[in-house]
Amino acid sequence: MTTNQPKRRDDKSRAAFEEAKQYIPGGVNSPVRAFKSVGLTPIYADHGQGSRIYDIDGNSFIDYVGSWGPLIMGHAHPEVVNALQETAAKGTSFGMPTLLETEMAKLVAERVPSIDIVRMVNSGTEATMSAIRLARGYTGRSKILKFEGSYHGHADSLLIKAGSGVATLGLPDSPGVPEGVAANTITVPYNDIETVKLAFEKFGEEIAGVIVEPVAGNMGVVPPLPGFLEGLRSVTEQYGSVLIFDEVMTGFRVGLNCAQGRFGITPDLTCLGKVIGGGLPVGAYGGKREIMEKMAPTGPIYQAGTLSGNPLAMTAGFTTLSLLTPEVYERLETLSARLQAGFEQNAQERGIPCTINRVGSMVCPFFTNEKVINFDTARTSDFDLFRRYFAAMVDEGVSVAPSQFEGMFVSGVHTEADIDDTIEAQRRALQRL
Ligand code: PLP
Repeated sequence: MTTNQPKRRDDKSRAAFEEAKQYIPGGVNSPVRAFKSVGLTPIYADHGQGSRIYDIDGNSFIDYVGSWGPLIMGHAHPEVVNALQETAAKGTSFGMPTLLETEMAKLVAERVPSIDIVRMVNSGTEATMSAIRLARGYTGRSKILKFEGSYHGHADSLLIKAGSGVATLGLPDSPGVPEGVAANTITVPYNDIETVKLAFEKFGEEIAGVIVEPVAGNMGVVPPLPGFLEGLRSVTEQYGSVLIFDEVMTGFRVGLNCAQGRFGITPDLTCLGKVIGGGLPVGAYGGKREIMEKMAPTGPIYQAGTLSGNPLAMTAGFTTLSLLTPEVYERLETLSARLQAGFEQNAQERGIPCTINRVGSMVCPFFTNEKVINFDTARTSDFDLFRRYFAAMVDEGVSVAPSQFEGMFVSGVHTEADIDDTIEAQRRALQRL
């Protein structure tokens, strides 16, 4: 380790975290923010601008967390901020329909191939939870099939890990999730269509739906193998199950028409979140009219929300989506490929085992020589090395997610200089390991 590197100052963040722990469980409102797995003090954000975050200790970071995905156009984008100010001045919530909601739904339906109509909710968790209820209500079946290492929010029926053995029923992933609920969730390995078929042979008539991240983004970044999404489409069709794409992370992140446009597979239902809220709390689920109209008030399946379709959230989301042109996605592709190539070269130079997965602007270095195609291969990454890498990156002024199982998000406002500075910072960080 060289000793002439800048060291992150964190006195104020430490004090803030100690105080927060007295009033908030673990000091945070979402567990990963506590930096527990990397053994550091959380970065307390003060403000953000473009590609950068500034913390309360006076450090600045080139940011690749982007609030865990939403900020595809960076922090405090002037058009988003201006639009929010205008909307806020007219009132923050009415509990009555507004024109903004229809504008937003129109735009989403135009851009997402599977969506005829769409319902807004307040988080990705609400979107997946509601889509599961809809799939169950629509088919009259109870079981759900999901993939090991995927995350779909914290609803009971989705917080389930694999049971032992192939295509077995799941086990609760958290105390508080009843075993009876877990018994209705089947968990199989990602990218393994043969096991999915086995599960359908065993439970097919009971499976209401399959929920899948079309690019897995919660075990690092894991692209679908050729034939995987196609296989899911055909097996669900064969058994009359609902295919749900959880595009909370990939929606408008990996392309103008989301992952389903990029890979050319159209699910029955799609869950959205993150980017469509432009940094405000939003989720959405949508799909075929015939299925969606089973929801209240047109149908009997219930779901509601005091703040759903909130004017501020719709404004931030709509403005962000309006900024996303084909040129932005081309730029994201170019910048992200440059970042990947630089990281690969750095690792090679240092002789560090490294596999970098990337889909569009989702980039993830794993410290392994294995090809990462599912949760098991993602777990071959050297976690101790990741922990030290994370600390070194923070010291070098680069904010990446404090977990091996999260990718980096490049934004449309990162500059080429940001990317080159990041590659250089990573080169120095690797030298310190
Ligand atoms: N689905 C996916 C694929 C996600 O990545 C997440 C969150 O990271 C969720 C659902 C849950 O979204 P939220 O945190 O907004 O509830």
